[in-house]
Amino acid sequence: KKLNLLLVLFGFFQLSVVYSQNNFEREIEALLAKLSLEEKIGQTSLRGTSSRVKGALPESLKQAVREGRVGAMLNVMRPEFIDELQKIAIEESPHNIPLLFSRDVIHGFKTIFPIPLGLAASWDAEIVEQSARIAAIEASSIGIRWTFAPMLDIAQDTRWGRIAESPGEDPYLASILAEAYVKGFQGTDLSDPSSLAVSLKHFIGYGAAIGGRDYNTAIIDNATLQNLYIPPFEAGIKAGAQTVMTSFNELNGVPASGNKFILKNILRDQLKFDGLVVSDWNSVTEMINHGYAEDQKHAAELGVNAGLDMEMTSTSYEDHIKNLLEEQKISESQLDDLVRNILRVKFRLGLFDDPYNNISKRNNFYSPEHLDEAEKAAIKSSVLLKNNGLLPLKKETKIALIGPLSNKGREQLGTWTFDGEGERSVTPLQEFRSQKVNVDFQETLKFSRDKSELDFKKAIEAAKKSDVILFIGGEEAILSGEAHSRAEINLPGAQEKLIKELKETGKPLILVIMAGRPITIEKIISHVDAVLMVWHPGTMGGPALYKMIFGVAEPGGRLPVTWPKTSGQLPLFYNHKNTGRPADAKSFVGMDSIPVGAWQSSLGNQSHYLDAGFSPRFPFGFGLGYTYFTYDSLKVSSEQLTRENEIEVVVSVKNMGERDGEEVVQLYIQDITGSITRPVKELKGFKRVFLPKGKEVEVKFNIRAKDLEFVNNEGIRRSENGKFNLWIGKNSAEGLQASFELID
Ligand code: BGC
Repeated sequence: KKLNLLLVLFGFFQLSVVYSQNNFEREIEALLAKLSLEEKIGQTSLRGTSSRVKGALPESLKQAVREGRVGAMLNVMRPEFIDELQKIAIEESPHNIPLLFSRDVIHGFKTIFPIPLGLAASWDAEIVEQSARIAAIEASSIGIRWTFAPMLDIAQDTRWGRIAESPGEDPYLASILAEAYVKGFQGTDLSDPSSLAVSLKHFIGYGAAIGGRDYNTAIIDNATLQNLYIPPFEAGIKAGAQTVMTSFNELNGVPASGNKFILKNILRDQLKFDGLVVSDWNSVTEMINHGYAEDQKHAAELGVNAGLDMEMTSTSYEDHIKNLLEEQKISESQLDDLVRNILRVKFRLGLFDDPYNNISKRNNFYSPEHLDEAEKAAIKSSVLLKNNGLLPLKKETKIALIGPLSNKGREQLGTWTFDGEGERSVTPLQEFRSQKVNVDFQETLKFSRDKSELDFKKAIEAAKKSDVILFIGGEEAILSGEAHSRAEINLPGAQEKLIKELKETGKPLILVIMAGRPITIEKIISHVDAVLMVWHPGTMGGPALYKMIFGVAEPGGRLPVTWPKTSGQLPLFYNHKNTGRPADAKSFVGMDSIPVGAWQSSLGNQSHYLDAGFSPRFPFGFGLGYTYFTYDSLKVSSEQLTRENEIEVVVSVKNMGERDGEEVVQLYIQDITGSITRPVKELKGFKRVFLPKGKEVEVKFNIRAKDLEFVNNEGIRRSENGKFNLWIGKNSAEGLQASFELID
């Protein structure tokens, strides 16, 4: 009897699981059965419209919606236009299917948060989730229900302009952030009008563009694809991501938008993705330029056969699917599958029940809570790279504020902020003035690439009269982002020259960098007393900086990407492999250059350049605070790990400084020998801990065999028996070391 009861309960449980997945399969089939061929094709079309449309919507667009020839819209930015189009779709189109409105809501909508690379530097899932939630609340208030974010492209080359939008170089950190973004944007209930369907992008390998040149070819072996590039997407899909966007690039000879292997074998079969796959902007027809499709019709055929559901902006599906069906190059059941995936997302978003999304009822752009979170995020994202004790400053300090990004509301927002308003930013200068800081502002360079030395004198005069020089420089927003890669990633224009001349006054100098990527600072690092990287910090960049400079808050960030000395070192990343050269002779490690004539075998087993040594300027995971922590008593619960047990790793961390502070405790492992070679270090855990001054705490991590899995060259994912090193420390280059063995 008991068993029967259990079985009944189990059955009930299964039913409720099926129900909670809300696949709406019955509704979808019922609707699909009624649709004409034209309407099915219409669902696959994502149309752009200029956000600048003034006056009235084009009649031709309205007519297309009326006839059911449009599935989704992009960049309709006036709520009344969204409303008008939706009304036509709901009331006049043959089967009243709601439109889905989309936009690049990347790091905020109106209230802008730090660029995604900056958010990644927070190593803080909570603040990332919160930033996405706020972006969703603001964007959905005008009727948008789909964002083209998060971008999850792992990138190892900081010349690549879109690294600004990426989670950095590490798959573990990126996976944690992927989940946070999905939870934040989509909310707890997809059908809630404040949720946005996410689009994990770009599937896949976009960040592996050769030489960091945007859109360039990617060549990635299968094991690397699985171990490095796919994990963040897998995490996003597990967290419930509704859509995935293909990438512009070709991967191993096949453009992503027509790549059956990645869209079917990996995305659908391996990752069990059941949402909608959308192309990138014209990426279907770009397959012609790639030399993969003969013409638009062929491009459509390749897209459909690869399982690409919706075409963004180009119209090869709309123009050619009918012919392709007649010629039996594709089948109607294939088309039905695309439409199912699209309708599924619309049902899950609740668009059939609430197509108008209560427009304009919930607008709270720039609310105090949103601004407060944006400020917190900017503080948590900022990475203190150098500090000879100058920071934080005392409030009375007389500051000469210099540098091209001291008062640029628009620039501090960074890339992909179409809806952010520069006028609503609070710049450092504005905040310093409103906080009554003793500040003498000299604009000197008008923008980051400015080479004019005309006003140097004024800046130097101001510096002489001050206690401290605060130089806010870097890159303006346009120097990173899509199609904005750089070969030299130094401070552009005359910034380096000005910094050197300022330093000749003998005054202490703080360099604050606002930029979309790490900036090489070899030529000036010895001229500056402190370096603070704030990325493009967003709307609240000024107040966040004020608090950090005066010690009201501590910069909380750690590098999510290796910081090179020179762009000649790129690509550069911490989780690289060893060479076959002997590991013992470490005498040159850390040196900036290697004596000419030194033979590689005496240099250790990491490959290097004669003129740039082995090491980066700052390693992955690096970041200082206003206090400092020591690590002690690393203990591993057992030296042997099996597939049944787990081991506990404990370290004691103590705040040794004069003030309370936060530390990001990082766990790395190395699989010493494998059936394919393994990285020298891999991040496997991190914890942000707050510690009052003088206090000590035990920080614990658990390691399971599952955490050690990787995919080998046969495509098999498993953990392999053998010896492992582990480190716990404050970044990827420092740490206490222990070891353990994985056994059966
Ligand atoms: C970008 C995408 C973006 C799309 C729509 C493309 O150029 O690569 O990331 O979502 O435009 O704006």
